[in-house]
Amino acid sequence: VSTWTNVPQGPPDAILGVTEAFKKNTNVKKMNLGVGAYRDDAGKPYVLSSVKKAEHKLINSNMDKEYAGIMGLPDFTAAAGRLAYGDNSPAITENKLAITQSISGTGALRIGAAFLSKFYPHSKNILVPNPTWGNHIPIMEHSGLTLEKYSYFDKQTNGLNIDGMLEDFHKAPKNTILLLHACAHNPTGVDPTPAQWDEISKVVKERDHFVFFDMAYQGFASGDCNRDAYALRKFVDEGHSVVLAQSFAKNMGLYGERVGSFSVVCADQEERARVESQLKIIIRPMYSNPPIHGARLVSTVLNTPELKEEWLGEVKVMADRIITMRNKLRGHLENDFGSKKNWNHITNQIGMFCYSGMTPEQVDKIKEDWHIYLTRDGRISMAGISSDNVKYLAEAIHDVTK
Ligand code: PLP
Repeated sequence: VSTWTNVPQGPPDAILGVTEAFKKNTNVKKMNLGVGAYRDDAGKPYVLSSVKKAEHKLINSNMDKEYAGIMGLPDFTAAAGRLAYGDNSPAITENKLAITQSISGTGALRIGAAFLSKFYPHSKNILVPNPTWGNHIPIMEHSGLTLEKYSYFDKQTNGLNIDGMLEDFHKAPKNTILLLHACAHNPTGVDPTPAQWDEISKVVKERDHFVFFDMAYQGFASGDCNRDAYALRKFVDEGHSVVLAQSFAKNMGLYGERVGSFSVVCADQEERARVESQLKIIIRPMYSNPPIHGARLVSTVLNTPELKEEWLGEVKVMADRIITMRNKLRGHLENDFGSKKNWNHITNQIGMFCYSGMTPEQVDKIKEDWHIYLTRDGRISMAGISSDNVKYLAEAIHDVTK
């Protein structure tokens, strides 16, 4: 018998499995609303012009391919930290941010979870929103943290259950680790308002909780990278010692380049040095040191004023296209197909995703009858919709929900 006779067949990944099924369909009207990757209005993957220019600059500069240090490229991490926390953040100006390059947001979460698992001095429980990005669960568990959920989404309103969330934070034992999506919550598209963030910050302070921010969509929610960093910056200003997983997959369109960072706001420079020494010890046996090309691209964009300005404009164009699709989808449902259901949440929700409220059975039916693919939780990746097919999608949603 073979050595691997006992290896059972595993289930396909919930999100990547949708794409596999989509690829097999030959219908010309098919739509893939599963994966969270931006598409232009022609439905094509989009390489940002600022990124292309940075890439030309890099190629012309004939750089070598030597290893980066364990924590990556310093010019990249410095710029990434400033983008997230803001140039004037005490974390930056007082030089107390421990920050390492990571294999995109996933790798940042993985390093962060491993760091907390090893050094967080209280319970190794982490509370994540219900629902959350599916991968959060195995990432945290693989790193040795125990996972629980806090109330987040309100099925009645398709909005935020702020009361339930605050209550859960109140009830949790002091010093609990909380995972918060900094903006553009995946999968729901529902974020706290600034006033609600202020309330959340207050409870977290009262209960001495510890926040792990996941910011995979800075700029994608509002089109403005500063506005989208509100929660993170507010927490730091109020003296919370947070950690952050940051990704450039979405906001720079660098999905496959795998560029991100993990950072820890430390009390002072001496603590920062100790924390960084331990981050290196965690990273070295995982992958030794990170890939260089994507980090060079981000560094070139963020550290070249004209390219940074162009990039900020491109982020806004992507965010605005998604907002336009939300308005069109809702408009077609209500005006062209006369749906009597409430679709306010399509335009109230923000970021890459719309948590449509479709049931698993309706998701199955829209796939069978209309060749439209999404995850069974009813999550629609808005970036997969274009001017050419938004009406078709509205007709299909109306058909399966009426
Ligand atoms: N966190 C959230 C909430 C996400 O939605 C994603 C990607 O979909 C990530 C993190 C990490 O993505 P990546 O590893 O591609 O940066």
